[in-house]
Amino acid sequence: MWLRNSLYSIAYLNLLVSHLGAIYCLVVGISFNAALYLLVTYIVRMLATTVFFHRFISHKSFCPANRWVTYIGCFIACSAGQMGPSWWKVHHLNHHKYTDTNEDPHSPIAPHKGIIGLLYAEFAWVLVPKYAYPDELPIDIENDPILKLMDRLHFIPSLSLAYLSLLMGGMDFFLALCLSTTLLFHSNGFLNSIGHLYGKQDFMTKNSSRNNSFVAVLTLGDGWHNSHHAFPKSARHGYQVRHGRIAKVPDPTFWLIQLMGKLKLCHSIIEYSDDFLETKIKQK
Ligand SMILES: [Zn+2]
Ligand SMILES: [Zn+2]
Repeated sequence: MWLRNSLYSIAYLNLLVSHLGAIYCLVVGISFNAALYLLVTYIVRMLATTVFFHRFISHKSFCPANRWVTYIGCFIACSAGQMGPSWWKVHHLNHHKYTDTNEDPHSPIAPHKGIIGLLYAEFAWVLVPKYAYPDELPIDIENDPILKLMDRLHFIPSLSLAYLSLLMGGMDFFLALCLSTTLLFHSNGFLNSIGHLYGKQDFMTKNSSRNNSFVAVLTLGDGWHNSHHAFPKSARHGYQVRHGRIAKVPDPTFWLIQLMGKLKLCHSIIEYSDDFLETKIKQK
C-alpha cells in the first residue's frame, strides 16, 4: 500500500510541473509548430482517455479486438497525466453510483455548493487523501498484470512523452506539452463541474448531469453528459432531444470507436435504437 500510494503521488508532481510549464508557456509564447504539437497531443490524449479509460475500461461500451489494442490505448491515455486505469475506473464508477451525494468523488453540489463546489469538482477533489489513495481498486483491471503495472507506473508514458517532446522540439515543444496536459486536466474537470451545473437535461436521470456543447467540444464528445448518465453503456454519448425526437450530435469519441470497428480493432459496439432512447426523454 505504501509503495502504491507513493507511486500515485508522482501524478501530483506531474500536474504541478505541467501547470507551472503552462503558465510559463503563456508568458513567453511558443512557435507555430509547437502550437500544432499542442493541438495534436491534446486531441490524441483526450481521445485515448475518452475511448479507453471512459467508454471501454469504465463502461465496457465496446470490446477491443485484442489485448494489445487495450494496452496501447491505455498507455496513450496514461500519458495524459491523469493516473492509470484502476485509479481512473474506481473513481468514475463511484461517480456514477453515488452521483450528487457525499460519496460522489467529484460533485459540484455535494458536499460543497456554489463556487466552492464548482472548484472542488473541477480540480480540488483529487487532493482529498481518500480519493488520491483509494482503498479499493477494480478487480477486473487488477487481475490483468499489464494493466495493473500500467496503473502503478502511470507516470512512465507521460515522462516518456515529455522526453520525446524535448528531443523533437526542445523547450518550445516541452512547454506546449505542459499547456496541453494542463488543458486536458481542466477539460476533464469541466465535465465534473460545469457538466453537472450548466446545460440541457434532455433525459430523465435523477441527477444533475447536463448536456453542455462547450464541454462536449473540449472533451471530444464526453460533454453530452446527461445522455451518458441516462445510457451509461452506450458507446455513443452524442444525443440531444429536439422537438421531442432524438437528434444525433457530434461525438468524435464515438466516431473513433466506429472507425476502430471498421478497421476490426474492436467489436460489440453498444448503441441503442431511437425508440429505446425516446423512452427516457425528460417531459417538459
Ligand atoms: Zn461514465
Ligand atoms: Zn457525471
